[in-house]
Formats: sequence, structure tokens, C-alpha cells
Amino acid sequence: MCLHQKRPCECGRNEAYVFHRDSILPEEVLVHLYCPECAGSVPWDARTMVRDGGWILEYDMEAARFYLGRRLGRVDYSPEEIFDEDYCSWYGLTPEDLETSRRLHEELEPLKRRDIKEYILQITRRRQEQVQALKHQGWRKAART
Ligand SMILES: [Zn+2]
Repeated sequence: MCLHQKRPCECGRNEAYVFHRDSILPEEVLVHLYCPECAGSVPWDARTMVRDGGWILEYDMEAARFYLGRRLGRVDYSPEEIFDEDYCSWYGLTPEDLETSRRLHEELEPLKRRDIKEYILQITRRRQEQVQALKHQGWRKAART
């Protein structure tokens, strides 16, 4: 099972959908989440933090290594690896990807009822455009697709 939850950032102005692959790490492992508006005010610590699209995720590395070690037998995970291997990262490609994709489906709903083939074509094309744009903006998960 994979958990996802909506989590507000430290300043409370933004929210992110956070994903925990295989539910290995509990929610508390993400100790702080900074959006682009509040990320500028925290001192950077590469031992516990990972950056993506202007956001900063700060992990409790001691707890993360404990849980990952217990399940996977490896205790030297870095914050980048935790993010890039999805043990605690975005749900989708960005903090708001779930919302974006929901809106796209909503927008194309009338087309779906009219012309299912065209709908599939459109949704695939629009999604590819989104992913390209995200890659261009430097989002880590988009770069891997
Ligand atoms: Zn914030």
C-alpha cells in the first residue's frame, strides 16, 4: 500500500501532496516542508534536506535510516535518495500534480462523453506538454520520466 497525504508548508501559504512508497516511512519523517515562499528563510543543511522546484523537504534522517534499514537492510540513504526513490516525495511529479491532473480530467470531461478517442488523444498530449514544461523547470521527478 502507498500512502499519500496533503501537507501544509511551514508558512501555511501552500500545500503539497506527499507520497510514501510502500509506506515504509511514517509521515513524521518529513519534519519540515518549505514552499518557495518560506524556503528562503531556512538555513540549508544537505545532511537532512533535499530541494525540488524551489521547495525544501527536511527529513528526520535518523528515523528514516532506521525504518529503511529495518525494511530494506540499507542504512546509508541520503535525503536525495529518499526523495528520488519515492520513499518520501511528491504524489505525482510536483507538490500540486494531483490537483493539476484532476483539473485536466475535469476540463476534458465533456469531450470524454462526446468522443472517447479524441479525449484519450487530448489527455495524452496535454499530459506530455505538462511533463515537458516541468522538465524544463527542473523538477526532479519530471526529469526521470
Ligand atoms: Zn510556505
